[in-house]
Amino acid sequence: MSAISVESLKRDSNSYEIVYRNIKNPRLEFKTGKLIAIVPPDYNCDSLISKYCKWIEDKEDFIQECRNNSAKVILQNRSLKEFRKFITDYISAQPEIKKYKTLRISLRTMKTKWASIKEEKEKIEKLYISINKKMQYLPDYLIRYIIFHETAHLKQKKHNGRFWNIIQNEYKNYREFEKELFVFWFKIEEHQNLKTSIDSKSVL
Ligand SMILES: [Zn+2]
Repeated sequence: MSAISVESLKRDSNSYEIVYRNIKNPRLEFKTGKLIAIVPPDYNCDSLISKYCKWIEDKEDFIQECRNNSAKVILQNRSLKEFRKFITDYISAQPEIKKYKTLRISLRTMKTKWASIKEEKEKIEKLYISINKKMQYLPDYLIRYIIFHETAHLKQKKHNGRFWNIIQNEYKNYREFEKELFVFWFKIEEHQNLKTSIDSKSVL
């Protein structure tokens, strides 16, 4: 059984992270496989965890399934330099992006996202796109999907029904793409952890 039971969550506070914020309504989030409770100061998380235990279990199952599937996928073998050229050329060629006077693409180490997009419309239209360096290991079709997803945010900021309609018009099976991205995320993390441990061994 892959899901973490409520009991084990209660006993082991390391199973989830608590973030205290000045907010009214507490909420639960999964960030790249880890459960996070975002709650008001002095909030006791036990009841929140119990209330959403089914939701937590379903998510845990999904994450476990992605981790299992990560053994089956193959990472793309390109250097960061090759990837930088590929992604810059690809993004610059997109019709929705060509209309911006200034385009900034930055490759970053990002902990929870594949990419992000931000436009600035004061005087000169500027577009900023942040790309997670992890994308270097993705197959081309998933890179294209991520860029499509980000440019769709220029029409609709939030992940609401309208947003997913835009995605679905181009990608009928977008749920499969989203799922595959999770699988690759875990695979890339494993790959990077392995690299770090090999690197640190070579120091010794
Ligand atoms: Zn998005």
